[in-house]
Amino acid sequence: MMPQLNETHDPALASWVDSANEPHCDYPVQNLPFGVYGDPKTGRGKVGVAIGDRIFDVAAANARGLLGGAADPAGTACDADTLNPLLVLGGHHWTALRAGLSRALRSGTEEGRLAEAEADDLLVPMADVEMQLPVRIGDFTDFYSSIHHATNVGRMLRPDNPLMPNYKYIPVAYHGRASSVALSGQACRRPVGQFRPGDAAEPSFGPSRALDFETEIGVYVGPGNPLGQPISIDEAEDHLFGLSILNDWSARDIQGWEYQPLGPFLAKSFASHVSPWVVTLEALAPFRCPAPARPDGDPSPLPYLSSDANEKEGGFDVQIAVSLASARMRADGIPPIDISLTNMQNLYWTIFQMLAHHASNGCNMRPGDLIGTGTISGPTEQALGSILEITKRGSQPLSLPTGEERRFLEDGDELIMQAWCEGDGRRRIGFGECRAVIEGP
Ligand code: CA
Repeated sequence: MMPQLNETHDPALASWVDSANEPHCDYPVQNLPFGVYGDPKTGRGKVGVAIGDRIFDVAAANARGLLGGAADPAGTACDADTLNPLLVLGGHHWTALRAGLSRALRSGTEEGRLAEAEADDLLVPMADVEMQLPVRIGDFTDFYSSIHHATNVGRMLRPDNPLMPNYKYIPVAYHGRASSVALSGQACRRPVGQFRPGDAAEPSFGPSRALDFETEIGVYVGPGNPLGQPISIDEAEDHLFGLSILNDWSARDIQGWEYQPLGPFLAKSFASHVSPWVVTLEALAPFRCPAPARPDGDPSPLPYLSSDANEKEGGFDVQIAVSLASARMRADGIPPIDISLTNMQNLYWTIFQMLAHHASNGCNMRPGDLIGTGTISGPTEQALGSILEITKRGSQPLSLPTGEERRFLEDGDELIMQAWCEGDGRRRIGFGECRAVIEGP
């Protein structure tokens, strides 16, 4: 385990794709995130890597011998309409492919000169294609790993005892629906469901009146494990391919009525949105940091959730910003307003602890499974990851520049999440964005 820095992370590298060298570009040659785009001619999904404002056709480059022999198995696996065949292969192949892509997209290499000569066949402008879901997701498990979020929500439900006694021992999660994971840009339809408004004696059935977002990071699982064979905390790194932005929409009124005793169900399964680009763990190596320090007096994780490597480098310094624009704001040409800025370092549990815990009973994880971190709220008012927390369950409405107010989300609202890593002389890399407009039921 332990992330390794190598030549692909060198902040001095530049690309022959000029747009990748802009200082605020999300996709410089140090990033190389994977996604699936519709071929402009056939519409069939193709695996691509984002570089500047272009997409590089991985399988086509591999077929022309531009990625080197070591990258060939992974390059061949990219001749597919999802990332799943690549996810199966595991870390050595992912590293070989990244090295080949980096050399082919870099300025000043022989591979780069050859690729540039064939740029017309290998690159498409992002603006000209439709992105598709990058992964055929088998299972979706959503954790609850920000102690700030768990405490804030718990306080609303149980003022005297906000945090359940298991929280500091178990990375708590529930099993979500993979079928309703949608791609950024698609609409979010307001769910209809059963809830009990205020102090009504009987529940009613209708459109949710308390629609919320949840600011999360999604983690895609690689090779996985056979049924009955757990993944240890030290092996966990080799089983995770990459991260993307995840918005886990939640209907708080439906949730509040249905969640006891078995947890969230229809309040969550109507939609979760992901961003189209998967940023690999290897690309994130320069932004690894210690697992968040536990406050004095908190228990140490049990041995199966504990390792030196996890403690030293289990965290990720990923910033996530959330902004909101109502339909009226967009009609008036008013830009979205920022409503949250949080960071993956606000998680109490690392993604490696989540995976090790998930597989600890022998549950088999499969390539393409999606793990959500849970809402990433931080300790300050600026770093709250849901509107439930921002408006204190609707009691302190958010004011929009149009004079509108929001207690929860309304039809026509557009929610935008962006994520990136930067700092300390390293090349900034971005995740792009995850956005969706809410439609009426
Ligand atoms: Ca969630």
